[in-house]
Amino acid sequence: VGAGFAGLYMLHNAHGLGLRAEVIERGDGVGGTWYWNRYPGARCDVPSMEYSFGFDHQLEQEWEWTEKYATQAEILAYVEHVADRFDLRADITLSTTVEACRFDDSTGRWVVTASDGVTRVARFVVMATGCLSAANVPDIEGRDGFAGRTFHTGRWPHEGVDFSGRRVAVIGTGSSAVQSIPFIAAEADQVSVFQRTATWAVPAHNEPLDLAAVAEIKADYANWRQKARDSSSAFGGYYPRREVSALDADEAELAEQYDERWEVGGLSFLRAYNDLLLDERANATAAAYIRGKIAELVDDPETAALLSPDTIVGCKRLCVDTDYYATFNRPNVRLIDVSSDPIERIDAAGPVVGGMLHEVDDIVFATGFDAMTGALERIAIEGRRGRPLRDAWSAGPVTYLGLQVAGFPNLFTITGPGSPSVLTNMIASIEQHVEWITDAIVALDAGGFRTIEPADEAQDRWVGYVNEI
Ligand code: FAD
Repeated sequence: VGAGFAGLYMLHNAHGLGLRAEVIERGDGVGGTWYWNRYPGARCDVPSMEYSFGFDHQLEQEWEWTEKYATQAEILAYVEHVADRFDLRADITLSTTVEACRFDDSTGRWVVTASDGVTRVARFVVMATGCLSAANVPDIEGRDGFAGRTFHTGRWPHEGVDFSGRRVAVIGTGSSAVQSIPFIAAEADQVSVFQRTATWAVPAHNEPLDLAAVAEIKADYANWRQKARDSSSAFGGYYPRREVSALDADEAELAEQYDERWEVGGLSFLRAYNDLLLDERANATAAAYIRGKIAELVDDPETAALLSPDTIVGCKRLCVDTDYYATFNRPNVRLIDVSSDPIERIDAAGPVVGGMLHEVDDIVFATGFDAMTGALERIAIEGRRGRPLRDAWSAGPVTYLGLQVAGFPNLFTITGPGSPSVLTNMIASIEQHVEWITDAIVALDAGGFRTIEPADEAQDRWVGYVNEI
């Protein structure tokens, strides 16, 4: 279920095993995340040479990325290329939503019902539904009565949006907001950003790819991929983690190291020291540095203070930006703090905060996703003896390796909850899961087994391990 990176690679492997397989996809094209998220400024924050499939030597040698961080359009072109190159399209059914998957105890088969009215019966069901695919639009009173245009960053119109001459509200300050606000601000008359929680961002310093450097990586790609697989975040070939504690560095060393990483740009910032994500005192040194940068970049001290988070750097995925903080120096951009005084309601003319109406023509919901479990829980999944997945997960999601759930035989969740997923370069994590599922199917058939599912004890142990980490 799903025709993003995960669904496409799974289909390719199913073909390799000689299985009959079908991918069912809600959208009217392939690409998943990169099909849906067409907001201005949408791009990858893992370097493109690493955010790409490694399973096929010819593919990685022939494909040419143009920028250090690929745009949404370029990644979408890549996914389309993969679908064509590996002859996948004939087995993909588009514009169709899977509504229910029920395990039939008597036959050991899954019965899948979808919006096209066709019932499929399958031995295996692979949920390639995405961690960040179920768009989250907050249920603010009056939302549907707004007179202007509304957009969600994860459901962006294919033809693009013209904001010139418009007053725009952007609700949310996560990664999609950080990427899109500078573009919207450059076009619109006025932008009002509604911030509940300030977010940490480091500069991308995106640039065209240097062809000589690309050739060097391509000559040694297998080694790069292996290094990615061996690292905790599944990428980092450019700037690996330094195995040094921030707590052993004096102020001058810290400044020098953080300056260097800031100049390089991107998520490698968190690899400046090996304990930034393990020790709160170490993390505080990185926090102090970024707060200092925000104070330098933002002219108005009050706005700079509001933009400065008081949270752990990298606990919520760090944002990678291009001119985000400096955008607040523009005369047409205002920051509205809704941390203690939330948006009360949306009137026909705009959002109301603290009794004050903010009149706008358009609202952009940069409010992200019902992450990790959303896409799965929107499908009526029932395992053995009709047990709903929602029941099994009533106290939070439980899985084994993030790949399977006890009581749901032959159902797999690629990058499911409890796996590293969004904390990593997701393509590497997707490849690992797809290959695991492929191996599991081979092992089942070789051993003459019909189904595979985790034992309750194994699942409990895994959940305990994840919680401990
Ligand atoms: P998706 O690409 O989400 O595909 C899932 C598909 O399943 C969707 O097309 C959806 O329509 C379909 N689907 C879901 N439910 C159903 C249903 N019931 N019936 C039919 N179809 C269904 N990751 C990184 O590693 N680096 C990045 O820089 C990065 N940037 C990102 C930027 C944005 C804006 C977003 C939203 C995510 C980003 N990610 C990034 C995470 C990204 O989601 C993954 O990298 C990857 O694209 C996920 O692929 P996938 O196939 O698992 O899921």
